[in-house]
Amino acid sequence: MILQSPISDGGRVFKMYAGRLAKLHIHTFRDFLFHLPNRYVDYSLTARIGSVQAGETVTVQGRILSIKNQYLKGSSFRTIQKAILTDDTGSIELSWFNQPFLTRSIHEGDNMSASGLVEKFRNTLTIQSPEFEVLYDKDSQVIHTGRLVPVYPETRGVSSKWLRRQVYNLLSKHIAEIEDYLPANIIREENLLALSEAVKQVHFPDSFEQAARARERLGFDELFLLQLGALARRRQWKEKNKGIKLTEKPHQKRLDQLINNLPFRLTGSQKAAIADIFQDVTRTEPMNRMLQGDVGSGKTVVGAITAYLAFLNGLQTAFMAPTEILAEQHFKTIHDLLAPYGVNVSLQTGSKKAKNAAFDILVGTHALIAKSVQFKNLGLVIIDEQQRFGVKQRGELRQKGVSPHILVMTATPIPRTVALTMYGDLDVSYLSDMPMGRKIIKTWLVPTEKRQGAYDWIRKQITDTKSQAFIICPFIEESENMTTVKAATKEYERLSQQVFKKQAGQAQIRLGLLHGRMKAKEKDKILTEFRQKKFAILVATPVVEVGIDIPNATIIMIEAAERFGLAQLHQLRGRVGRSDKQSYCLLFTESDNQATKTRLKSLEQSHSGAELAELDLKLRGPGDMYGTVQHGLPRLKVATFSDFALIEKARKEASHVFSRLSEYPSLEKEIKDFAEQAISPD
Ligand code: ADP
Ligand code: MG
Repeated sequence: MILQSPISDGGRVFKMYAGRLAKLHIHTFRDFLFHLPNRYVDYSLTARIGSVQAGETVTVQGRILSIKNQYLKGSSFRTIQKAILTDDTGSIELSWFNQPFLTRSIHEGDNMSASGLVEKFRNTLTIQSPEFEVLYDKDSQVIHTGRLVPVYPETRGVSSKWLRRQVYNLLSKHIAEIEDYLPANIIREENLLALSEAVKQVHFPDSFEQAARARERLGFDELFLLQLGALARRRQWKEKNKGIKLTEKPHQKRLDQLINNLPFRLTGSQKAAIADIFQDVTRTEPMNRMLQGDVGSGKTVVGAITAYLAFLNGLQTAFMAPTEILAEQHFKTIHDLLAPYGVNVSLQTGSKKAKNAAFDILVGTHALIAKSVQFKNLGLVIIDEQQRFGVKQRGELRQKGVSPHILVMTATPIPRTVALTMYGDLDVSYLSDMPMGRKIIKTWLVPTEKRQGAYDWIRKQITDTKSQAFIICPFIEESENMTTVKAATKEYERLSQQVFKKQAGQAQIRLGLLHGRMKAKEKDKILTEFRQKKFAILVATPVVEVGIDIPNATIIMIEAAERFGLAQLHQLRGRVGRSDKQSYCLLFTESDNQATKTRLKSLEQSHSGAELAELDLKLRGPGDMYGTVQHGLPRLKVATFSDFALIEKARKEASHVFSRLSEYPSLEKEIKDFAEQAISPD
C-alpha cells in the first residue's frame, strides 16, 4: 500500500468504512493526512499523580490498580466504571458512566495514560470520563493524551479518536512519501515549514505555535496554487484563442461624436477603462477583462461605448444581466444612447423574445444562452453583475461566437488582493472616481423611537423637493418566497393606509409595490411608473439590490438592516445618490445587540464599497460574505480570503515562479490537480 492507494486497498476494516469516509472526502490514504483537525484539546500538561490538584486539566500516567463495574444507586441498568490509577507518588480515581465494556479492554496492571479535568468528591480526586490510552510497551507514543490532541470533523461512525489513530499510523509509516513540490528557495524565503513537517505538525503539533506554522504553510500552498492556476489559464487563454481584431482609428470620428453627445462628461477612470478596453480589443488575443466599480460609478456607459465600437466593426454584442428588471433597464439605456446612431438594439428575456436576428446588440437575461438565440457574428460579450452568473453560463454565452471579446462588470467590492487571487486570469480596470457632483449619501442608523419622526421627514422631503424614496422590506428568506412577498405586501398596505395616508391640506403621497414574485410585465410597469414619477415611494423587497438606476430617487429606508452584510447594504444604498442631488439612507434594526449596531453604524462613516467589504470580511468572515452571493468561489480548507498578508506573499511568489514553471514538474502537476477549484470566465 502507498499513500495514493484507495482506502479499499487497506483491507476489511477500511472497506467497511469506505462509505462513511467518503462523506468526509477521504478516498485515498493520502486524504486522511489532508483531513485537517478543526481544533486541538490541550492535554500537554503532565503531572505526577501525587501533585495533581482539583481544577487542573492534566495528563497522568501510571498503572491500573483495579477496575470495576458498579450499578448506580437505585438503578438496575445505569452503571459506573471506576478504576484506580497509581504511580509512585500517589493514586487517582478514573470514572466513566455506562461503559461496562471498558472492564474488558482495561485490565489490572495495564500502563495507562489518562487526561482530563481533575475534580474532588468527598476527598477523592477523580477524573470523570477521561481521554485515555493503554500503553502496551515502554516506548508507546501517546496519541490521545499527554499532548495537543487533534479534534477532527467527524461523521456518524467515524470518531476523532479513530481518525487520530489512522493518521498517526499513516504518518509513522508513510511520511516519506509526501514530496515537497514547492521550490526550496520559496520555502526558505517565506520561512515556511517543509510540507511533510507541516502535515505532521498540523495533526500532532508540538505546540500551538507549531500548529499555526503548519497552517500557514498549508494555507500558503492553497493560495499559491490558486494563483499559479489562474496565471496558467491566462497564458492558455492568450495562446489558444485567436480573437477578432477590431479597429479603432477608422471610427474615431463617430466614437467622438457619441462621447461628445453624452449628457455628461466621462470621468477620468471611465476614460481610462475605455482606453484599456480598446487596447485589448484591437489585439488578436481576445479580451478577458473585468470592470470593477462601486455602485453608481457608471459602468453601463463604458459597456455601451465598447458595444458601439464592435458595431462600427460590423460585429454583434451580447449584453447579459442577471435579472429581467435589469435587462429591461439596460435595454432602455443602451437603446436611447445608441439607436440615434443607427444601432439596432433588441431585448431577449424569459418573457420577451427578440423579433429577428437583425440586431446589433442583444440585451437580455440568461435567456440569451437559449439554443434558439443565434448570432451571426458575435464579437463581444458583456456580462453585468458577473458574480451572479455561474462559470458555466458565462462559458455558454461565449460559445455563441468564435472567441468573442469578453467584458465582465461587477460592483461587488471584492478587495483588490482577493480579486487578484480569485480572478488572476482577468485583467481588471477599476472605476475609482465617481461622476462629478456626486454627494456622499448621508446615512443614519435610526433609533426605534425616532421611526415616526423618520416617516414625517420622508413625507416632508417628498412634498418639498419632489424627490422619491425606496422603502426596503426585510429579507425574510434567502430566496424570495411567499413569506417575504407577504411581508412586503403587508408593509405596503400599512404604509399606504396608515403612515402615508392623505393628510388634510397636503398633497397625496402615492406608493407602489415591487417584489420578486411579480410577473416581469408587472415589474416593468411599476418601475416605468416610478421612473415617470407617477408615485413617490417604492416599497420593495431586496430585489432592487442590483443595478436599478433611478436618479430622481434620493431616499432609501432599509428595514431589518442587520440581516444584510455591509457590502450588500452598500449596494442597496447605491440605489440612491445617482445624481447631483443630496441623497439619504435611513437604516432600521430591531436588534439590541451592540456589536450589530456598531457594524451598521460603520455605514454612517464609510462610503467606499471596498472598505466596507474588507470590514465585512473581518467581522463576518468570508463564508458569510461570499457564501450565498458569490458562486464559484474556490473552496479553501486552510487559508481564508481575509488573510491579506498571506495572499500577498503567495501572489508575489506565484508571479516569480510562473515564468520558470517548466523547471518544476511536480509543481505543474499539483496546479493541475488544484485547478478545477478555481474560477475562470470560460
Ligand atoms: P453602475 O456602475 O452602478 O452600474 P450606472 O452605469 O447605472 O452605474 O450609472 C449610474 C448613473 O450615473 C446613471 O444614471 C448614469 O447615466 C450616470 N452616469 C454614468 N456616467 C456618468 C458621468 N460620467 N457623469 C454623470 N453621470 C454619469
Ligand atoms: Mg450597473
